Formats: sequence, structure tokens, C-alpha cells
Amino acid sequence: MFEDRFGRVHDDLRVSVTDRCNLRCTYCMPSEPEWFDRESILTFEEIVRLVRLASGEGVRKVRLTGGEPLLRRNLPRLISMLDDEPRIESLSLTTNGLRLQQMAPDLATAGLQRINVSLDTLDPDRYKKLTRRYRLDSVLRGLDAAQKHGLSPIKINVVVLTGVNEDEIEPMVERGREKGWEIRFIEFMPLENGGTWNMTRVVTGEAIRERIARRWPIEPEPGADPTAPAARWRFVDGRGRVGFIDSVSAPFCTHCTRLRLTADGMFRVCLYDDNEVDLKGPMRSGASDDELIVLMRDAVRGKRRGGALEILEGREALPLTRTMHQIGG
Ligand code: SAM
Ligand code: SF4
Repeated sequence: MFEDRFGRVHDDLRVSVTDRCNLRCTYCMPSEPEWFDRESILTFEEIVRLVRLASGEGVRKVRLTGGEPLLRRNLPRLISMLDDEPRIESLSLTTNGLRLQQMAPDLATAGLQRINVSLDTLDPDRYKKLTRRYRLDSVLRGLDAAQKHGLSPIKINVVVLTGVNEDEIEPMVERGREKGWEIRFIEFMPLENGGTWNMTRVVTGEAIRERIARRWPIEPEPGADPTAPAARWRFVDGRGRVGFIDSVSAPFCTHCTRLRLTADGMFRVCLYDDNEVDLKGPMRSGASDDELIVLMRDAVRGKRRGGALEILEGREALPLTRTMHQIGG
């Protein structure tokens, strides 16, 4: 089992399949990123081997991410390889949705169960500003295609930035209620590399809840899973739910059971901990399954109480060496 010194049993693995992206969201990456070398990216066989080993240690949930995972060539083949892993109970994907319209049928056929689509604004000009690209229509068409092909329930990840898109909270919620999407508001985290993060730019979950509640009464959903990153609230009128990932104002480190595998084969036990363990090097030099499992177990055992907590308490310096797109959000 992947149990750490604080009794947290890790059953959730985020697998980044590429660091490349067709957007340049300002809160995620620089405008001119340097990509990993192609040969440093794990092959599908390498990813599946590591997922299989992790599943032997209790990992049951796998989420594919990136960079933009839909840019990875033949992604449906990886999905069907992972879908064949009997111990993986939940297989999902986080995407910016730009290629979803073309890919939704193949993703669904390959065995993908659910998707999260990141969308911070419904305004085309603002979309261009935030993502440094101009393709909002493609995302909206992609969302319709995903719904049509049963990749549901769809969750929409929204990062709200002070003075940038706070006025989109209500329109997003409204659209979510209309379409049956669960909107999840994620607090802006200090992982954007430009050094522009500061607390005044973070719109807290609490502020968002207050704003929503003025128009649509909401209440916490009973029976919440304490290890889930998102706190789910439901609309009192019964029309859907909304989620909050208060990763900065109320870090969920204490209950964190997530692990990450980066596209270049590093095992990362905490978003905020740059002490990664290289799995690709040993794997390519012929390490046995047992040797790889020991590397992963030791890394989990070394996981600290909580990276976000330590940053907020001023014990850890920023910025980290990797930005979000290189870690896998
Ligand atoms: N490209 C895909 C996408 O955008 O959904 C997957 C990768 S992206 C890194 C995963 C998630 O991380 C997105 O929902 C994005 O909004 C979020 N994200 C990126 N940088 C962030 C930051 N600094 N703070 C909070 N969330 C961030
Ligand atoms: Fe790309 Fe996703 Fe980062 Fe935006 S948030 S730049 S879509 S990886």
C-alpha cells in the first residue's frame, strides 16, 4: 500500500501524458515555454507498466492530464490499455476541450468514463486574453460532443482571478445549471512560474460561495468524501451542484491521497514538492518491478505533512522549478 507517515493511503494517480499545449493560459505557463525533449516522454507501455505497479499498491483512480492530453498522439490507445487494467476503477481526463469535438467518440469507445474541461470564461475576447489563444467556440462544440457521447457527468474547472473574470461566476453557474455541468471553482495556486502569484490575485472559494448564494441558495452536500479535493455544494432548488477547490485558502493536504507521474517519468508525491523521484531512468536501465515499487513506496513514505500548508505558513520558498503544465494539474 502507498501509505505515508501520516496515515494517508494514496489511491489516486494523476498521469501527465505530455507537457505540450495548444493554449498558453497565463496562470499555468509562460508565453514561450520550453518543452521536454520527445525522447524523455514516457511511452504508453512505460505508463501502463507504472500504473499497473501502482494499482498493485492500491491505486484505483487514474486521471490523465498534461499539458493538453488530447495532443498526445493515439491517446485513445492508451485509454484502452488502461481500461484493460482490472484494478483501475475510475479513469478520467482533464482537458482544455479544444480537440474534444473530433476526439469524443474515440475517447468514449476506448473506455474513458468522465472528463473535466477547463473553461474560465464564456467571453471570446477574454478567453483570448486568458489563454493567449482565440478558440472558445471549439471548446463549446467539444463540450456538446462530449455530452452526446456519454462522457458525463461533465465537470468544468474554473480558475477565478481578481479583476479578470470574477463577473463570470454567475454566468458560468447559470450555464452549468442549464447544461447539467458541475462547475468547480479552483483557487489560483502559485504554480505559474512568472512570479506573478500573490494572495490578492486569488478569489477565494468563500467569496465565490457568497456571490453564488446571493442569487441561488446553496448548501453543503451531506456525506462528503473527506479525501475529495472539491467540496461539493448543492443548489437548494435541486438543480445541480457546484464544487469548490479551496486549495489556497483551505489546503486539503491533511486528506491528500494524490500522487503524480509527470510526462517525463518523475514520480511526484505533492504538487508543491520538487523532490521528485525519477522512475524513467531506472526503468530504462532495466529496473525490475520490485525495484520500481520500492522507489515509489519510499517516495510516498517521504511525503511531507503538506506542501501548500508549508507555503502558506511561510516555511517554503516560491517559485517552484516546475510550472503546472510540467507537473500535470
Ligand atoms: N490542459 C488541460 C486543462 O487545461 O484542463 C489539463 C492540464 S491543466 C494544467 C489542469 C488544470 O490545472 C486546469 O483545470 C487548469 O485550470 C488548472 N491550473 C493550471 N494552473 C493553475 C494554477 N496556477 N492554479 C490553479 N489551477 C491551475
Ligand atoms: Fe494548457 Fe491546461 Fe495549462 Fe491552459 S491550463 S496552458 S490548457 S495545460
